[in-house]
Parts: sequence; C-alpha cells; structure tokens
Amino acid sequence: MIKFTNSYAQLGESFFERILPTPVTAPSLLLWNDTLAEQLELSNSLRGDQQLQAAIFSGNQLPEGSDSMALAYSGHQFGQLNPQLGDGRAHLLGELLDKQGRRFDIQLKGSGRTPYSRQGDGRCALGPALREYIMSEAMYFLGVPTSRCLAVVATGDPVYRESVKPGAVVTRIAASHIRIGTFTWFAIRKDLESLSALLDYAIVRHFPELDNNAENKAIAFLDAVLERQITLMVAWLRVGFIHGVMNTDNTAISGETIDFGPCAMMGSYHPATVYSSIDTQGRYAFGNQPNIAVWNLTRLAECLIPLVNTEEKQAIASLEPVLLSFSERFDQAYFSMMGAKLGIAEITEQDRVLIETLLESMQSHELDYTQTFHQLTHSIKGNSPLPDSCNEWFAQWQARLEPGSQALMQANNPVVIPRNHHIESVLKACEESGSTAPAENILEVLRSPYSEIAATKDYQGAAEDKDASYQTFCGT
Ligand code: AMP
Ligand code: MG
Ligand code: MG
Repeated sequence: MIKFTNSYAQLGESFFERILPTPVTAPSLLLWNDTLAEQLELSNSLRGDQQLQAAIFSGNQLPEGSDSMALAYSGHQFGQLNPQLGDGRAHLLGELLDKQGRRFDIQLKGSGRTPYSRQGDGRCALGPALREYIMSEAMYFLGVPTSRCLAVVATGDPVYRESVKPGAVVTRIAASHIRIGTFTWFAIRKDLESLSALLDYAIVRHFPELDNNAENKAIAFLDAVLERQITLMVAWLRVGFIHGVMNTDNTAISGETIDFGPCAMMGSYHPATVYSSIDTQGRYAFGNQPNIAVWNLTRLAECLIPLVNTEEKQAIASLEPVLLSFSERFDQAYFSMMGAKLGIAEITEQDRVLIETLLESMQSHELDYTQTFHQLTHSIKGNSPLPDSCNEWFAQWQARLEPGSQALMQANNPVVIPRNHHIESVLKACEESGSTAPAENILEVLRSPYSEIAATKDYQGAAEDKDASYQTFCGT
C-alpha cells in the first residue's frame, strides 16, 4: 500500500488548513506517468489498477497516511503584495520518499474548494491540466529543475470558464511547495516563531548541507536559494522558457519550476518576448526573468531580517551583499551556458562579444532561437545556416571551435521544444477526440529532446506567424 508521510503537517496549524478534496462524479484516468510512479515506488501498490489510480488521484479515495491540507502563503503579484493567497484549489496529500531517499510532495490540483479559494471554484479544466503535465515533462527532459505530474484524471464534472469545459485533477510532484510567499505569510503577520520554524524546515529539506545551528543560517539560506534561482534562470534562458507569472507565490524555494499557468516557449529570439495576456507591461518578459528573480529574492531577504541574529540595521547590512552578488554570479553562469550552446567550454572576454553579436543578429533577423542553435550544432564543419550578413561572425565562431565542441552543443541545444502552436493543437485534438493519444505522441518526442526520433520532425517547425498572435492565459 501507499504510505504517505507528513513532515509539513508537523510544522503546526498556522501553516495550513486541514481540508479534504471534494469528491468528483466519474473519475477516469487519462495520463499516468509510469517512470515517475516507478521512481516513487508507487507501481507495486497500485498494480496498474486504473480505477484505483483514478479514485486516489481525483481525491475520491485517500490512501493510508494522507493528511489532506491546503497550504498558506502570501505573494507579490505583479509587484503588489497580496497577503492572503494559499492553495485555493490544491490539496497536499502527503509526502513520499523516492528510491534515492529524496522527499517529494504529492499534491492534487483542481480537487475542490479550500478556505483559500476566495471567488474560485477550486477546479481545473482539462486543457490546463494536460498542459501542465506536458510542459513539466518537457522541462524535466530538457534538464530544467521542475515539478512534475504523476497523473491527470478526468472528473466527469463540467467547469464553467468562458465556456463549459471538462474538468480534471492533476497530481503534482515537487521537492516541496514552500514558496517565497510562504515566508511572506509569516513575516507580515509578525509570527516569528513560525517563520523561524519554516527556515529550519526549509534548510533540512532543501539545503541539508547548511548548518542549521549556525548563527548566520538565514544568510547562508538566502545565498543557497539565490544560487538555485540562478541555476533555474540560466536553464530557462537556455531552452527559451517564459514562465509568464513569476510572482513570489509561484517561486519555489527548492529552485524548481512550478505553476505552469501562462508559460510559453520563445520562438524567434527577442528578450522582450511576452505571451501572457495579463502581462501588459512585459514585467515577466523572456529576458527580464533574471531581474525578476532578484526582485523576488529581495522579498525573501526582507522576511529573513528578523531571523538574523543581530539588530535590524546589521541584519540588513549582512543580507544585502548576498543580493548584490546575484548580478555577477548570474552573469558568469549565463555566459558559461551560452558558451556551451556555441560549443565553447571556457569563456573569454572575446567570446562574450561573439555571443552578444549572435544574439543581436538573431533579434534583428527574427531568427528562431531553438532552430538556430540546432542548425549551428550541425554546421560545425559545414556551411553557415545564418543570413549572409553573419558570414564574418560564422567564420570567427568556426575558428574558435575545439574538439569537444559538437558534443557540448548537442548536450545544450535541444532539437525539439514544446512549441506553443504544437501544444495548443495537441490540447485541441485531445479535447475534440476525447482521447489522450495526441498528448502521448508529443510526449514521446519531448522525452528525448536532444536526439531525433522518427516523429521529432513533426514538432520542430515554428508557427507560421512566428507566434505573433499567440497569447496565454492564467491557467484555470
Ligand atoms: P495562480 O495564478 O494559478 O498561481 O493562482 C493564484 C491564486 O489563485 C492561488 O492562491 C490559487 O490557489 C488561486 N486559484 C487559482 N485558480 C483557482 C480556482 N479555480 N479556484 C480557487 N482558487 C484558485
Ligand atoms: Mg490552520
Ligand atoms: Mg500559483
């Protein structure tokens, strides 16, 4: 049998509201992530029993050890503090250790109303549930830190959006659901006891290498969270991912990608690329994501001030240098990643110019980000895939290449990404046919994004209008 544990529950009542999922009418299993189930050692206890899987991962039947709860958190949404957010349509059932002993949260999303639901119905439509499953799976295989999905279960109940849609529950697996906004929840309520317990818990769970008894653990924690955010931003920029709603409630302390609502992939390279319909100012544009990461980390640092063992002024003075270190550390990591995309293992000052020149040309010629790097990977000994005006650049680049360049490029430049128009047509096909075969087909390709399989070419093409009219909406 499945046996959940509940370390988060031990933090106490101020961290959550105990609430059961609301049962659904006719649960039916649509997608099941076999390899993830295997990793979590779930396969034996569920014996491939689809009815049991559907019952559990719709919230209709709670497995042994589950302690269902909605988590409390605040969040800065588009820069504005919202003190009262929390899981409005999600239930944390418990935690499981994977084969390597790593702890994961098992969370249902779309599983009914909670005390944090406000006006929401607590539900999720099928399209966004499938989208989160496909996008997170794609990110995982692209090598980006991310939450993943174990299952999508159709509920048999309608959800009322701009039109009536079929409902679904998606099961999310994450290293935890602690967000920057979780710290904010306690900091703004001046609940120092809970805030301090949260810090200790987050260190044990995510940064066990830090000394939880150290006097300056809050500073070390900020530094560790910042490092993970740098890794995450660089990974997003490498594959062209635009999160779309980098609010502090959608920023996980673990450094994983979470909350896939209005996310999208950049087609033609342009740092100002935005697809989210509500991001009218471009706050969460592709190239602005690192700036937002440091803005979000600053909100975390503010929460940590009372946890530094000195008076306030001194605490601020010791947290600030960590935030200020972001820019140089990010810069190093970013150029090293871009170097790898161009087959250059050790970046020099001149290489930085080479990288920037290429990006400028890609921007002015509206070149596709993924396709261009893929073509360059295959043009190491061949002709230039770039416009003629880039011939000088191409010659310089080729002269810079080393024996290991191609392998480095192949490992860093995907041949296929979950392109927006392909994802949309897959979701539409699933909805229209009532089958998940279209989702399984694209998933097969997205699970090997660095090698070409038979169907890869079906998903490599850019949108005809280069996504000029593409828009995403906060996934509901
Ligand atoms: P998101 O933009 O998806 O990160 O969600 C922001 C907040 O709105 C979170 O507190 C969610 O739990 C809540 N929320 C989003 N959709 C719903 C819904 N359909 N019902 C209840 N709460 C929701
Ligand atoms: Mg409570
Ligand atoms: Mg969210």
